[in-house]
Amino acid sequence: MKTYKIAAIPGDGIGTEVVSAGVEVLEAIAKREGGFAFQIDHFDWGGDYYKKHGRMMPVDGRDQIAKHDAILFGSAGHPDIPDHITLWGLRLAICQPFDQYANVRPTRVLPGITSPLRHVNGNELDWVIVRENSEGEYSGVGGRVHQGSPIEAATDVAMFTRAGVERILRFAFKLAQSRPRKLLTVVTKSNAQRHAMVMWDEIAHEVAADFKDVAWDKMLVDAMTMRMVMKPGSIDTVVATNLHADILSDLAAALAGSLGIAPTANLNPERTFPSMFEPIHGSAFDIMGKGVANPVGTFWSAVMMLEHLGEPAAAGRLMKAIERVTADKRFHTPDLGGTARTADVTKAVIEAIHGAN
Ligand code: ATP
Ligand code: MG
Repeated sequence: MKTYKIAAIPGDGIGTEVVSAGVEVLEAIAKREGGFAFQIDHFDWGGDYYKKHGRMMPVDGRDQIAKHDAILFGSAGHPDIPDHITLWGLRLAICQPFDQYANVRPTRVLPGITSPLRHVNGNELDWVIVRENSEGEYSGVGGRVHQGSPIEAATDVAMFTRAGVERILRFAFKLAQSRPRKLLTVVTKSNAQRHAMVMWDEIAHEVAADFKDVAWDKMLVDAMTMRMVMKPGSIDTVVATNLHADILSDLAAALAGSLGIAPTANLNPERTFPSMFEPIHGSAFDIMGKGVANPVGTFWSAVMMLEHLGEPAAAGRLMKAIERVTADKRFHTPDLGGTARTADVTKAVIEAIHGAN
């Protein structure tokens, strides 16, 4: 029997709650499907680890997980530690060296969930947002000088390489091609950011020549936010830079009903290193420890993990189980206007996996 080695990194805040729910669900689906099993190794990296050791993860942390088949991640963020330390010390410290350059975020309104767009004409919403995940505005290039003086200055350089832009555009065209509508929107801000964004547009035209069956268009990011709200049905696959897609995908998650539902895959498409699956939301300290975090974003991320591992039947079964549970308002957590708890939703999904409700 095939055994997949999964590294579970719950991180901080509600990350710990939703990842432990995610692990329960993964174990249930493996048991139900048969044919494969999970070996799940837990890593206690994050804010508490930082407080003890002065780092978010051990020096050899990446080596410890480099041979795993996939990573299930919760969130990095701690009320006592600045965000740039938690983010760069853990999440980006895994994503970037593992070359998880394609961040994929599907958005759909699941059964039983109410979208804020319910009154908009053509409000059907079935998108995949592809976020460039390795460079751009989050490349870390920049500096700060004369700190604390009147002439203090700081830069963050958005660095784009031709290779980096080409590979994410190629990935997005291929993904768009695999979906029924074969429709791609390339988002930039090439009117105002006249170097890198113009290069994006040029490379998009070059790559498009290899995907003649994909209908594609270009859109400025500001106009795109309006289109997402006013004409959601005109959108299918979207590709944008690290920063732009970060913002667009939070908007997308809210339009689909809640940040608590939205999933992410950080893919290394060449499979030279493990890919990482996580809910879009962060550590949400306001609800931490209360047992009310919505685990659906993590469960949906587990579906993406199963697809990536090459277990489409298990992925399909888990997605169906999730949809049966969201359809039932008794299992809506407070972010969806309900009173269910994380444990209730988890139990209901596991029962649905076994076909018992
Ligand atoms: P971070 O800084 O790590 O991104 P954050 O404090 O910005 O964390 P997010 O997790 O991004 O918070 O979420 C913003 C708000 O959305 C939270 O304060 C929380 O109320 C709500 N929220 C996010 N995720 C969930 C969830 N899984 N279930 C319920 N509510 C959620
Ligand atoms: Mg946040």
